[in-house]
Order: sequence, then C-alpha cells, then structure tokens
Amino acid sequence: SLLRAVMPAETPTPRSEMRSVAELLRRRAAERPDQLAFAFLAESGGSDASQRVEWTYAELDRRARAVAVELSRVAAPGDRAVLIFPPGLDFIAAFFGCLYAGVLPAPATYPKPRRPSSRLDAIVADCKPTAALTTSETLGLMQLDEQSPAVRTLEWIAVDRCRDAESFKQLVPRTPSDAAFLQYTSGSTSQPRGVVVTHGNLLHNLELIRTGFGLAPAEEAVAPQSGVFWLPAYHDMGLIGGILTPMYVGGTSYFLAPATFLQRPVTWLETISRTGAAISGAPNFAYELCARKITPEQRAGLDLSRWKLAFCGAEPIDSRALDEFAVAFGPQGFRTAAYYPCYGLAEGTLMVTGGGGANGPRVLHADRARLAKHRLAAVAAGEASQPLVSCGRPLGDQLVRVVDPQTFEPCLEGQVGEIWVSGGSVAKGYWNHPEELWQTFGGRLADGSGPFLRTGDLGAFDGGELFVTGRAKDVIIIRGRNLYPQDVERTAQQAHAAIDLGAAFAVEVDGHEQLVVVHQVRREHRREDMAPVLRAIRAAIVEEHDVDPYQIVLVRPGGVPLTSSGKIQRSHCRDMLATNGLEQLAAWQQSPTATP
Ligand code: ATP
Ligand code: MG
Repeated sequence: SLLRAVMPAETPTPRSEMRSVAELLRRRAAERPDQLAFAFLAESGGSDASQRVEWTYAELDRRARAVAVELSRVAAPGDRAVLIFPPGLDFIAAFFGCLYAGVLPAPATYPKPRRPSSRLDAIVADCKPTAALTTSETLGLMQLDEQSPAVRTLEWIAVDRCRDAESFKQLVPRTPSDAAFLQYTSGSTSQPRGVVVTHGNLLHNLELIRTGFGLAPAEEAVAPQSGVFWLPAYHDMGLIGGILTPMYVGGTSYFLAPATFLQRPVTWLETISRTGAAISGAPNFAYELCARKITPEQRAGLDLSRWKLAFCGAEPIDSRALDEFAVAFGPQGFRTAAYYPCYGLAEGTLMVTGGGGANGPRVLHADRARLAKHRLAAVAAGEASQPLVSCGRPLGDQLVRVVDPQTFEPCLEGQVGEIWVSGGSVAKGYWNHPEELWQTFGGRLADGSGPFLRTGDLGAFDGGELFVTGRAKDVIIIRGRNLYPQDVERTAQQAHAAIDLGAAFAVEVDGHEQLVVVHQVRREHRREDMAPVLRAIRAAIVEEHDVDPYQIVLVRPGGVPLTSSGKIQRSHCRDMLATNGLEQLAAWQQSPTATP
C-alpha cells in the first residue's frame, strides 16, 4: 500500500515488551493498583480550599474498562471517537476507554457552551467519528439541537456515567503499527489535520522522552517520578507530555486547568512547590508570564529546588524569557540547569530534539545579516544579533537532517535549511489526506535516502545542536532577504510598553513583497494616543531589521488570531486584514507616493 511504501521498516519489538499503549495502563494497574496516578486540582479563586480529584491506577483502569464496554456497543475497532472534555481526569478515562476498545480517539478543543464550534465541525467532517465522548455536565450544557447535524447525530456518551467495568472482557489486540489516536495539529499555518499516531510511534517517543529527560524506567524508579501540568490534554504536549509520560515511568501527575494558570500563574509554581514534583514544563510564553505577573509576595513562600526538569517547547524559545524567569525564581531554588528546551511536532508524535546544559541552555547570538542569507554565525550579543536558544540534540535512534529545500542535499553545520526527521516516532500520515503523505512524509535526500518527514520548519545545526530559526511558510522575503516574523514581532513588542503580541507577514503591493505588522495594544494602554506608539514601532523595525514596514496596525487585546494552543496565525491574520476583518484601533501606512 501507499502507507507501507513510504514507511520505514518497523523497529522490532521483543516479545516481552508492550505492543500498545493500552497495555501500558493495564500493566500499571496490575503492578501498582493503589498508587496515585492522577490528581486534578480545581482551584477556587486562588484560595487554599482547592478541590481535589484523585485516581489510582486501578481506579483509572476500572473507568477505562467501563468506557470501553459502553463504547463497544456502538463502535467497532478502527472507528473514531471525538473527545470533548473540560479540564479534569475524565478525559484520561475516555482516552484509554477508546484504546481498550480499539477505537481511535480524536481529542478536540473544548467548545464554548451553547455555541457551534467550527473546529469541532472541521474535525468531525474530517475523521467521521461514530461517537462523541464527554462528561455528563458538558452534555447538559452543549444543547445538541443547536449543533450542526453531523455533530448532533453522533453517539454521545457521558463517560462519568459509565459504570459497567465488569463486563469488559479483554483488550482489542493491537500491534505497534496500528493507529492509536488522531492528533489534530493546532492550525497555525493551515487547517487542522489529523496526524495518525500509531502505538509504536507512542511507545518509541515515550522512550525518547524518558531517556532525554533522564528518568528511570518504571521498574527501577525508587519513588514515583511526579509531574505538574496545566497544558490542555487535546494538545500533543499535554497528552503525551502530561498524561502518557508520567504513566510510562510509573509516576504521578498533578493537573491544573489551563485557565487556573492563566488567571493566577503562581498556582502552577505553588503546585510544583507543594508536591515536590520533579517534572514540569510549558511553552515559552508561560515562563514569560510568570516572570512578569508573579509578585514578590507570591514568590516568597515557593520552594522550587526539587524541580529537576523544566521543559520548554512548542513555539520559539526566547532566551530573555528564560533569563527573566531564572532571575526571578533563582532565590526560590530554581536552577537554570533544570531548563530542557525541546523541539517537536505532532507529525513526529511529540519530541524530536531536546537538551539543556549544566549551566543552562546554550544561547547562540546569530548575526542578523548572515541569518537573512541562511547562515548561522555566532557573534557578540548586541543590536546586530539575534539570540537563539539551542533546542538540544536529536534523541535516541532517530535521524534529524537539515536539508537544502532546493537541492535536497543535507546542509553543512551553520547552514539554514528545512528540518527533516526519520525514525520510529514519525507518524503514519494524515487521516483522510493521502495526497499529503508524499509531500510531508515522503522526503528523499538527493542521494535517494529516506523517507523523511519534512517538518516545514527551518533551522541549522551548530556543534551538533539544533537551532530552530522559523517556519518556511511564515518566512517573509523582502528584496531577497529572509525575515523571521517572530523576530520582527519581538522588535515591535519591545518598542513601546503599550504593545503586546502580534503578527508580522508579507503582502504584495504593486508586485513587491512588503512588510506588515499587526499588534495588540495592552489593555491598560488602550485609551492612549497611538501616534507615538506607531512611530516607535516603525523606528525600531527600521533600526533592527533594515526594512521599512509598509503598514502597522494596532488592534484590541485578543484581536490577533491565535490557535487553540496559543500560537499566532499569521496567514489568517493577513486574510483578515485583506478582507477588513480586523477591528483597528490605530494604523499607519506608507504614503502611496513613497518609493518602496
Ligand atoms: P499546523 O501544523 O496545523 O500549522 P502547528 O504546526 O502549530 O500547527 P503543532 O504540531 O502543535 O502544530 O506544533 C509543531 C510546531 O511548533 C513545529 O512544527 C514548530 O514550528 C513549532 N515548534 C515546536 N517546538 C519549537 C521550538 N523549540 N522552537 C521553535 N518552534 C517550535
Ligand atoms: Mg505543524
């Protein structure tokens, strides 16, 4: 078949080893039934009166069996079930209930109550699920008659009402090459697509993460290796990093709702402090938020000395954010050696490269002018350089290559190209999009070797470490020079205290590519005169990037479109601007007579 033709030969698994992730939970429940597996801490307004839900491995297994029994009445092995869950533990029971029944779970974002969700509609249209799993509370809130017909007519199951674990007979047998679940990508450069992740992919990536993080195998761990997470479970980092990794090493995972973190960031660190968990992490923005929002009083009581591994990934890593966090929380025992920057993507299951350093992550100050010409050259820190955080080294037995996208030759060290990956963690393809299989998963080097996953990300190696410089689809090319949007956005954001996150992209004006930036104004500055703000942004961009922007647009907080995982949707933003879909607070544009 098409799939077999491009897939690398499966890594042989010894008989004694697990063949599916469903077996992982069954095994943990058999060997350590009474150990706390998952706890959900529902904070009530930041007070200490937190409600707790706690499940042992035996409890989780019992609930998963009950879900499997119910689900098997309506769905056959190989069918899909869409998962719609508020933060909490029921998601985990649903996920494993599906695996126990051989049904593919497709986690979806939690829709706003009583409103049809276009993302849910898109996922349902794409993978045509038989069932929808949720909680009885959500089912009550959803008002199915207001949903689209495709959503309304699914077999809806409230997993907290599934009780009949006793009727469960046995796991539907699965092999490593069978699909385990569908991971819908966040949609920062395109419509969400469902990555088909196999049991073998998951087990392979879990082992990469375990060894990369330096964790003991479950059998050898002297005490539970615990983690704290608030990342949403419908995103690969929350699911694989927060749920499956702790289970893989036989540990305990403490959860907070994403909103709990966003409303009161210190809750995250308080939970790490209180539980003494060694593993926790989040995308870059979370470290930045903590450094900016947590007050010295909130900070005072924290003990972060037992936090051994602080991973950071899923979006570009800003060395400034890591520095500020380390400075703020060093007195609380946080060590920069705990930082573990990593790079990965859903098409690679989760993690591809990772690694910190005894003195913290390596930062390379890349010469901006040479970066614009695809070269990574270290210079002294300063105006003319771009700090890049090392994303560590390729993990385990996988091959990671930086490839010239024109010649398909591997790049030399220091040369920027597209990041390609091959190995046991590379997923099987996209559900329902066979045409993209060759394009994305069938990369071949000039010498014919492959297949490789073409990540669409740009980067370069230096000293064997990977530096991610941007995404091919987002790169802005002006007069032959490459501009990375996140660099321009950072410049704009730093130009004035009123400016928050934004999107930089190119538009075509009279046959020439021109730079446009759209930024949010911080709430507290909304009513100020925006003329000096616009001038400051323009001056800073000209100064740092040698490009005069064509247009600068300021919008309200929340005006820049983001994905469900908080990434900037640059091309969507460009479309919104083109169709007058952006509500502008203020704007500036080059006069038509000015020469470009
Ligand atoms: P879509 O594929 O639908 O556009 P997405 O790529 O954002 O969405 P994910 O698979 O969740 O969806 O994210 C993976 C992407 O995140 C990577 O391809 C890369 O662009 C970015 N990324 C991950 N880790 C890093 C990192 N350490 N530095 C820079 N970018 C990163
Ligand atoms: Mg992607």
